[in-house]
Amino acid sequence: TRQWTLASRPTGEPTMENFELQSAELDDPEPGEVLVHTLYQSVDPYMRGRMRDAESYADPWEVGDPMRAAVVGEVVESAHSEFEQGDVVQAEEGLWAEHAVLDGDSLRPARTGAAPVSTALGVLGMPGVTGYWGILDVGSPQPGDTVVVSAAAGAVGSVVGQVAKLGGCDVVGIAGADEKLEWLTEEIGFDAAINYKTENVHERLREETDGVDVYFDNVGGEVTDAVWDLLNVRARVVVCGQIALYNATEVPTGPRKLAKLIETRAKVEGVLVRDYGPEQWGEALQQLGEWVATGEVGYRENVVEGFENAPDAFLGLFEGVNIGKQVVKVGDA
Ligand code: NDP
Repeated sequence: TRQWTLASRPTGEPTMENFELQSAELDDPEPGEVLVHTLYQSVDPYMRGRMRDAESYADPWEVGDPMRAAVVGEVVESAHSEFEQGDVVQAEEGLWAEHAVLDGDSLRPARTGAAPVSTALGVLGMPGVTGYWGILDVGSPQPGDTVVVSAAAGAVGSVVGQVAKLGGCDVVGIAGADEKLEWLTEEIGFDAAINYKTENVHERLREETDGVDVYFDNVGGEVTDAVWDLLNVRARVVVCGQIALYNATEVPTGPRKLAKLIETRAKVEGVLVRDYGPEQWGEALQQLGEWVATGEVGYRENVVEGFENAPDAFLGLFEGVNIGKQVVKVGDA
């Protein structure tokens, strides 16, 4: 099989030099294992953290090892009682590989109903669950609240905004391209959207809202600074991601405007999708599946064709090339 390994750890922005395409011989699956042919591979911002040699909520990858990714694939050969040849499965901890031998206990059937199986990596997968519980559990949105979401046209952000909207909130998205703004406001029901690259976020939020009750933060940095001054009394800030800082070479100084929390008694809380157990994953995926089927939740995918383009697809996340979930199409069923 072909697989991508971590060639070196990036300093700052990752480059193609950090990745190496290798050929590997695969052993036959041992009892309990399954040989999977990858159909779609996910690329996610958290992978930047795993390329770094530092303590985090996830162990770092070793240089020289194949990199890990959520995948959707077809079973080629199974030595696990629950799976047989031809089954379409998904793995949260698969590999950046065309074929891989995986622990059968870590697989589950890819159930996406009428939606394409690739959505098991996006709206009907980990990012969907993150957005669903992040906003509902940590954000506690109330009808009438103003909810602001950063990286709003991404996999997580687009779910957050729509779930908040279904809960009766006014929703404003922040994103980095006019085409993204159009999708948010004209197709998936956001009340307003702001281009942080061309507009003054603070001024626009002042015009569009009476302050912010829930801020769902996927990016950190300057976008978050701009939202911060507009937090309302008892606001909730859900810290989900800080992608604007993932390539930073120096540790940024801590939040300086904490007096805002005294003024507003706002709460800032992190969310980690791994904290939610199988039942909560099931509940979120069931509900999102229904909403996708009825069209109440819309989604988009940016499908990058070809396994050899996986690193490019990953690097594209930091340029914002994706509207919706960024996935790599690796093979055909
Ligand atoms: P997205 O689909 O949102 O893709 C990333 C987006 O981030 C890009 O499209 C880009 O959109 C935006 N972006 C990139 N660089 C910057 C920057 N410097 N400043 C502002 N925006 C930037 O990815 P996901 O939906 O998968 O993830 C969104 C966030 O959620 C990430 O921070 C990720 O780490 C986090 N996450 C956290 C989880 C948890 O359990 N806590 C689980 C899953 C994801 P734009 O054009 O708008 O700039």
